[in-house]
Amino acid sequence: MEKRKSEQLFNRAQQLIPGGVNSPVRAFRAVGRHPFFVERAQGPWLIDADGNRYLDYVCSWGPGILGHAHPKVIEAVQQACEKGLTFGAPTAGEVELAELIQACVPDVELVRLVSSGTEAVMSAVRVARGFTGREKIIKFAGNYHGHSDGLLVKAGSGLMTQSVPDSAGVPAGYAASTLTAVYNDEESVSRLMEENRGQVAAVVVEPVAANMGVVPPKPGFLEFLRRITEDEGALLIFDEVITGFRLALGGATEYTGVSADLHTFGKIVGGGMPLAAYGGRRDIMSCVAPLGAVYQAGTLSGNPVAVTAGITTLKILMEDRGIYERLDCRAAKLAEAYRQEGLAVNRAGSLLSAFFVPGWDSADGAADRTGRQKEGGRSIENYEDACGCDTQAFAAYFNRMLERGIFVAPSQFEAMFVSDAHTDALIEMTCEAIRASVRQGET
Ligand SMILES: *Cc1c(COP(=O)(O)O)cnc(C)c1O
Repeated sequence: MEKRKSEQLFNRAQQLIPGGVNSPVRAFRAVGRHPFFVERAQGPWLIDADGNRYLDYVCSWGPGILGHAHPKVIEAVQQACEKGLTFGAPTAGEVELAELIQACVPDVELVRLVSSGTEAVMSAVRVARGFTGREKIIKFAGNYHGHSDGLLVKAGSGLMTQSVPDSAGVPAGYAASTLTAVYNDEESVSRLMEENRGQVAAVVVEPVAANMGVVPPKPGFLEFLRRITEDEGALLIFDEVITGFRLALGGATEYTGVSADLHTFGKIVGGGMPLAAYGGRRDIMSCVAPLGAVYQAGTLSGNPVAVTAGITTLKILMEDRGIYERLDCRAAKLAEAYRQEGLAVNRAGSLLSAFFVPGWDSADGAADRTGRQKEGGRSIENYEDACGCDTQAFAAYFNRMLERGIFVAPSQFEAMFVSDAHTDALIEMTCEAIRASVRQGET
């Protein structure tokens, strides 16, 4: 595999950009190699600066549900560009996107557009605090909600492969108002609620966790969060930056049947451009300026080009009702291939993770949407379980997959994303590569 140009670019990048990248996990540090630099992408493929082609299961970390550079999205964006890139005044597209989000997720009665998932969750938490007049929030270890100060406590994603679990530079006061519970552990939530009665503004949760590897909620867990927040006068925030429009058009609410007070969206909703959203109950969202006293603003919020990419992507998803079944079917085939090689697999729709668990017995369970588990078997249910993985075995497997031209996330603790551009033939080819790459590791 030729990598001269990528190496040269990485050397230049490291002179000027911290670690040579603009988001840490892109540096490939957890898999002991240098990143490739992307030249362009088409459908399921990424092509790097040296002309290597990779079958892409990262999909820009989630947005790419249709594959890269979908012709309809590109055409709509090009047309939008010709009208001007930003106006700082409202446009029809913002209204249309809000209507589409509402049509998919009826819980969202009022919605505000922002530019990143980080901003969406940070703002939703501020609204929850403003609405309830309370300061504390409960989050779950291993759930990632972007890099805002108050949410970087025991966060997953890139932090799981750093040597420290929490970021430096976060004032101690923030950590004090962020309480951390154990995912899938009702008792841990009840205890925090009891110890902080009348002080908890919100429970914020990834309804299907996908930033410590994929960890689905156990049956009843989200229902429990819905009940306890109602009982305690706290709000329930579903961080659907990954799950929104991914698990189903209606995201986690449609997929699990549980509703939340506030939802955050990102990734798919921007169709590959920097756009995210938060919204929910009308009475709560009415706190947002200029209607209410919670201030939140953005120069490029609702950017017309990004909005166009979002609208076009959502419309394609809405018109193709078969897409979620197709994605589910393909992801199931990949999951089965990993399972046959003796790995622990968690899956929810087109999100999956294969965990390299030392001493894993294939008779052990696997968490899926039904929470189906073998009697007495183990499964990866929370942050601590995920942390027990053999990251060196993962790195070796990652490198073997990449040598075969298949790009999976360069960390044990990220999801594998299946897109509509991953045809059955490509899935079959991937299953072959999985069999070869995992087996090679055992010898
Ligand atoms: C990616 C992600 C975020 C942060 O979104 P950015 O656009 O990267 O700021 C927040 N929450 C979840 C669940 C995510 O996966």
